[in-house]
Amino acid sequence: MDYIDLVEVFEKLEKTSKRLEKTHILSNLLKKTQKDDIEYIIYLVQGRIFPQWDQREIGMSSKLIIKVLSSVTGDSANEVEKLWSKEGDLGNVAFILIEKNKQRTLTRNTLTVKKVMENLRKLAELEGKGTVNKKVQLVSELLTSAKPIEAKFIVKNVLGILRVGIAEGIVRDAIVWAFFDKEINFDYDEKENNFIVDREKYNFYIEKVQRAYDLTNDYSKVALIIKSKGIDELAKEKLTPGNPINVMLYQKAENIEDAFKIVGKPCAFEYKYDGVRLQVSRDKNGNIKLFTRRLEDVTRQFPEVVEYVKKYIKADNFIIDSEAVGYNPKTNKYLPFQSISQRIKRKYDIKEMSKKFPVELNIFDIIYYNGANLLNETFRERRKILEKITKQEKLKLVLANQLITEDKNEAEKFFRESLAQGEEGVMAKNLEGIYKPGSRVGYGVKIKPKADTFDLVIVKAEWGEGKRSKWLTSYTVACNHNDELLEVGKVSTGLKEKSEEGVSFDQMTRLLRPLIKEEKGKNVIVKPEVIIEVGYSEIQKSPTYSSGYALRFPRVIQLRPDKSIKDIYSLEDIKKEYNKQRK
Ligand code: ATP
Repeated sequence: MDYIDLVEVFEKLEKTSKRLEKTHILSNLLKKTQKDDIEYIIYLVQGRIFPQWDQREIGMSSKLIIKVLSSVTGDSANEVEKLWSKEGDLGNVAFILIEKNKQRTLTRNTLTVKKVMENLRKLAELEGKGTVNKKVQLVSELLTSAKPIEAKFIVKNVLGILRVGIAEGIVRDAIVWAFFDKEINFDYDEKENNFIVDREKYNFYIEKVQRAYDLTNDYSKVALIIKSKGIDELAKEKLTPGNPINVMLYQKAENIEDAFKIVGKPCAFEYKYDGVRLQVSRDKNGNIKLFTRRLEDVTRQFPEVVEYVKKYIKADNFIIDSEAVGYNPKTNKYLPFQSISQRIKRKYDIKEMSKKFPVELNIFDIIYYNGANLLNETFRERRKILEKITKQEKLKLVLANQLITEDKNEAEKFFRESLAQGEEGVMAKNLEGIYKPGSRVGYGVKIKPKADTFDLVIVKAEWGEGKRSKWLTSYTVACNHNDELLEVGKVSTGLKEKSEEGVSFDQMTRLLRPLIKEEKGKNVIVKPEVIIEVGYSEIQKSPTYSSGYALRFPRVIQLRPDKSIKDIYSLEDIKKEYNKQRK
């Protein structure tokens, strides 16, 4: 496929915020796409070049792109920079400059999707000496051949700032619309922005595609299997230790009684540990890997966990689910998540960190054991296997503290004990429940003491005044609504001037600065990547923010580097809480 065909789709996608319309545009593209390009197309529309869990990054700064643009077009770096501050987006700058240079004899080869992808991937693979120059060359090669509109999107893809609003749910639906339109009797009414299908069949295909995604975490792979081998092959997709899968998520229950109603009686209560969720896998060759719930590989960051897993789990290969909880090495008391969260992204002094902020691994589930997939086994069986293969050692590796009961008083006592130990609350789990990756099904729920907080993403920020002018000090936060981000308020309290006291302005500024997409006066728009937990005293209806709601007295409670944009609260969640407070 020529790259320009994909670019035309990017443009169409940019013009609509309607989910169904986006799905329709993408499904039409998938229908036209040859097998060899399917994988590339699905990554590129999501603004990526590799699967979500792949750690490789393009690693090109705005500065370097300015250098490339200047060398390709002959404009000085200064001029490019000036235009950037006016336009606020280097993609647009690329468009303007290449358009202006049209008359010059740029060597214009037709760019294909494959060629663009190959060069982008090479960028991520370069290492060592001369890397910068080679990177400049690879992007220059593309831009020299690019039409202005192609240049715009190449630059956006390189910088990771492509936002055409294609979230995972849209990719899934588009795959079904594109490849099974006949089976589901699909019809789309463009005027009404509506579609008709045979619901039962539609749900059947959606389920299959979703399941394959939950196992692979890669819609490119899923689409390619369907296109090249057919739907039946999807079911053969296997769990593989070493490749992360989406973890199971839990709904909220109001209290113990509510929990019994959702998960049934008797059920297993477990302490809800306040740490970092780790999916731990060991393959047949003994390679151990640790992934966060965002599927980031953090094996290097937690060397002691790797040691414990080697020592205390007796099995050839497995995938287990667990929570790594920090403790104070002097008092051996558990510490809240915040104290060890800094270990997740740490690249240096890892050994020292593991001494200063050691963790205990609390194992609560197993989904793969000695070659067998346990996703469809009951929780009762899975726990039995865990008990068989682990040797527990306090402050190193233990099984989640568990109580099986149908008695409300016993369960409440267990809940209070958990809180007294410094844990967050309890989980209640259906003993017959299977492990369902990704979805918040009723097989398990969490119960916490009431706290009015939401996990939200920062979309805008503001530079401070006076002695705070070097920091971004106020943050506009947003929730999710059908893959669209809607603002719910501005938060500027809860941060500290010094980092020893908690989340500091300096820390936040360091996180947000590289994400700035546009800057106007004191205000900046950032790539929506930093997730924070925001406390508030009340939710109010408000026309000020695009969600229609505003948080009263919002404050930053903590950073949530373990969460991704998929995990933030939805407009539905906010409405629910709003309605609750009115009761
Ligand atoms: P929260 O923000 O309340 O920590 P969450 O959004 O991170 O919740 P949920 O799936 O809603 O995630 O709640 C369950 C989380 O609790 C899991 O992701 C896991 O990290 C943690 N956890 C701690 N102890 C357990 C346990 N015994 N069983 C399952 N999950 C546990």
